[in-house]
Amino acid sequence: MFIPFILTVIIQIVIPVFFSAWLWFTRGDPGIDWFSRLFLVIFYTAYIFTAGSWFWVYYWLRYLVAGLVLTSVLAGLIWIWQNGVPIFHLSGWKSRLEPGFYVVLGIIFLILFVSAVRGSFYQGEALNLTFPLKGGTFYVAQGGSTKTINRHLISEPQQYGLDMVKLYPAGNRARGMYPRELERYAVYGQEVYSPCDGLVTAAVDGLPDHIPPETDRINLAGNYVIIYKDGYKILLAHLQQGIVAVQAGDMVKEGQLLGRVGNSGNTSEPHLHIHAEKGGSKEDHLVGVGVPVVFDNRFLVRNSLVIK
Ligand SMILES: [Zn+2]
Repeated sequence: MFIPFILTVIIQIVIPVFFSAWLWFTRGDPGIDWFSRLFLVIFYTAYIFTAGSWFWVYYWLRYLVAGLVLTSVLAGLIWIWQNGVPIFHLSGWKSRLEPGFYVVLGIIFLILFVSAVRGSFYQGEALNLTFPLKGGTFYVAQGGSTKTINRHLISEPQQYGLDMVKLYPAGNRARGMYPRELERYAVYGQEVYSPCDGLVTAAVDGLPDHIPPETDRINLAGNYVIIYKDGYKILLAHLQQGIVAVQAGDMVKEGQLLGRVGNSGNTSEPHLHIHAEKGGSKEDHLVGVGVPVVFDNRFLVRNSLVIK
């Protein structure tokens, strides 16, 4: 399970740092060469900036990496401003193919970037809820309206679902790359509060918290609570075993303690999953149609931070 972490480091740090150096050291190369590299580097960086999983590393590296690339872009543009665009020279197969290859790759990342940005918008009416966690900086790992930034879109009932973790002050979500100890994850054990007034229609409490990366593919939501309000069902899932504080039939108030963030169900690491759906019976989840949710009128997407 170190593979996703290593891949993230390569995709979000090693490649952009290489790209930045590449632009920096080739500024002054003939225009078509340098501009084709510029095109690729800008849209690659824009894509990983919006859609990258920055909670895997230190969150602030997102800005450092973007700043590094931006510095090289500006340095190249200043060079051109001072010296003029160097003469194009299209001789030999390599100099013709290379820029074309970079432009094609750049277009792919442009499409991915647009898809990630589109994920910040939703259609229809959103359910407004209060953020269910308190006391820290919380990071949205999955959230938004396109698959590029929200994996929940593979299933209609949980489309618009959100996965949230907590960051330590340094910007990391865990002490260690992918620790097996649950206590090393900042979000583990955080109190979960009801995001609205409503009726508890289901509460499950008996499932174990797994050691990452073990997971439960049968009881997908693990320990969970469903709150029913005005035709909406709100599911809060992957709670800690043994301390879910409500039962089916309870009326809850907004801000009332429901339980704590755990690692039960189908999870890769401790996080809080929340989604709202309409339709189906009041007690069941994953049977209706997922609806957009806003927290304090804000539509949260991957890489959103919530400071509470
Ligand atoms: Zn989820």
